[in-house]
Amino acid sequence: MKIFIAVDMEGIAGVVNSMQTSPKDPDYRFARAWMIGEANAAVRGAFSAGATEVIVSDNHGGNGSRNMLAHELDGRATLMTGSPKSLDGPLGLDASCDALLLVGMHTRNGTSGVISHTVHGLVVDEIRINGVAFGEVGMKAALAGHYGVPTALVTGDDLTCDEALEFMPWVDTVPVKWALSRNAARTLPPPVAAELIEEKARNALENLESKEVLQTDTPISVEMDFMNSGCVDASANIPRLERVSDRTIGFTGEDFADASNLISTAIGVAWSVTRAWLGR
Ligand SMILES: [Zn+2]
Repeated sequence: MKIFIAVDMEGIAGVVNSMQTSPKDPDYRFARAWMIGEANAAVRGAFSAGATEVIVSDNHGGNGSRNMLAHELDGRATLMTGSPKSLDGPLGLDASCDALLLVGMHTRNGTSGVISHTVHGLVVDEIRINGVAFGEVGMKAALAGHYGVPTALVTGDDLTCDEALEFMPWVDTVPVKWALSRNAARTLPPPVAAELIEEKARNALENLESKEVLQTDTPISVEMDFMNSGCVDASANIPRLERVSDRTIGFTGEDFADASNLISTAIGVAWSVTRAWLGR
């Protein structure tokens, strides 16, 4: 049994503010320790359910997606670290995986929840797939679905767990904190969150036959609202992308992997322009 674990940082127990997820902040070293603590808990759960191979992917964009320290990873797993990289591909998530676990996730932009955003908080307002607003949980699960891989577990704040259940009523969830506002929560202590994640990951994988593959109808119609028209100016010349309105681009994806690739490309180009005028 081969398990793929994607890990973000905003949904880790104890994290309530983007500052904590950026290396400039003195608290970052704690947040990164909590992050790998939750990742390792999921790894232990996977192996105790019978996994023979586990891949862990660092999917938090801050610090060049090098938030988990390789020497701290459970020795039985391997780590996808650094940037740019996509979740899928021959060395990553593909049809040879038996399940996807999503750890440290957050709600989509424009909704409540701790540090809610969609891929890039300064660039993206909303992404609609076949007319439905998708957050990162839905997009990762749909990408796994493209390869026939079920999503078995989602962890994050309580509202992220709710968002996941809207898309995937079969998924097991671990709320590790309860949102009080976008930058406040009532949280479990990280070691307690890790214990729960280990137990739930094991349980989810022992009952893998109850998990379903998130299917998306093809071809895939994508619309992406950016935060401003400058992002559209920057990305609308990418082949196949069309300017739908002042701050919206659209295109048709052959399948979810194709759509996901082009979404990442457009966001990358939009961010390169945005960062220039922010002077970053
Ligand atoms: Zn993140």
